[in-house]
Amino acid sequence: MKFREMKDAAARRKVIEKESGTTLENIAKFSFDEGLAMKKNIENMIGATQVPLGAAGPLSVNGKEYPIFLATTEGALVASVNRGCSAINKAGGAKAIVLEDRMTRSPLFKFGSISDAVEFADWARSHVSEIAREAEKHSRFMKVKKIKAWVLGRNVYLRFECFTGDAMGMNMVTIGVHNACKWIAEKTGAEYLSVSANMCVDKKAAALNMIEGRGKTVIAEAVLPDGVVEKVLKTDSDALVDLAYRKNVLGSALAGSYGFNMHVANVIAAMYIALGQDAAQSVNGSIGFSLFERVKGGVHVSLTLPALEVGTVGGGTGLATQHEALSAMGLAGSGDPPGSNAKHLAEVIAAACMAGEISGMAAQASHQLARAHKELGR
Ligand code: NAP
Repeated sequence: MKFREMKDAAARRKVIEKESGTTLENIAKFSFDEGLAMKKNIENMIGATQVPLGAAGPLSVNGKEYPIFLATTEGALVASVNRGCSAINKAGGAKAIVLEDRMTRSPLFKFGSISDAVEFADWARSHVSEIAREAEKHSRFMKVKKIKAWVLGRNVYLRFECFTGDAMGMNMVTIGVHNACKWIAEKTGAEYLSVSANMCVDKKAAALNMIEGRGKTVIAEAVLPDGVVEKVLKTDSDALVDLAYRKNVLGSALAGSYGFNMHVANVIAAMYIALGQDAAQSVNGSIGFSLFERVKGGVHVSLTLPALEVGTVGGGTGLATQHEALSAMGLAGSGDPPGSNAKHLAEVIAAACMAGEISGMAAQASHQLARAHKELGR
């Protein structure tokens, strides 16, 4: 019998155990609701994979303290983020601002000639409110903010930018945009090929996401006094700033990287797993500009993340362990107004990533990185 046809997780485990001659006793242990997970999160479920969960901080972000939950198997990561949190707290806390908030989908239309394609792109640009009305029928929360159009040969790529409340929004936008595209095809006769044509850009590193952004575009800031750099981070401000320029800016440029940072993806992936986010979207989250600039008496640190895709409802946020972690941060579920919880989550993640950057860069500037990994990670 195929896994798909089996009754439940236990039945599937039994078959695998029998055929492989192994036991899955640890995979069998979990506390979340199997029925709920099977409905919303997983097919052919056999159990759960456990990842150790640590807490760094609490970290002061915009005047409020948040525990920073990190699910990881990388020894030294939690300790490093924790040290970065201490440095930021001693410096008066982090400030974080969400600059833009929108989830995107880019459907594709095909035409017989380039003039038809150009004419359609112009039509789409001038009918945004009608198209939005069709897209928004399917959610209480989704609002179309913009529709952009690109013509490539006989193809037109639209890019919908939508507010999705506290949801990360990928399902919501996919459903809404697909329905709008069916309406567009009926109305104009355009050939609608796909709801997604890689200009979204979901789960692929892309210059478009770096420049136009996706999800939340968020920026975090802290000003570290020289004394904090020396006492907490065990390095000095000049060395930190100099290395950040030569590594994060020059080294990343030489590599043709979209990530001008040290290891933002580390903190994003660990927080995404802990908090029920879509872990594959750490690809876009990893696009980030981590800047260390010398100012009088210290170092100005900022981290700009153009494409941080997060939510506090939907996806994995309803699973028991992830929901508990979001609740302990005071950010579970719907915000008041809708969208505010997801926005605060983005601010906290950006500040935690900055803590990781600060500590990681300091470890490299003072040659502690290899030692820390030897002591804590092996
Ligand atoms: P979702 O769970 O599909 O939708 C969110 C649901 O929460 C909607 O039913 C929405 O109501 C409801 N809701 C309640 N309170 C809300 C609030 N305050 N703000 C917003 N919504 C609220 O979640 P999603 O974020 O759209 O999709 C996330 C999932 O998409 C993840 O599992 C992810 O892995 C997956 N994903 C999908 C694609 C794709 O192509 N479809 C791509 C990548 C990832 P309404 O019904 O009124 O909208």
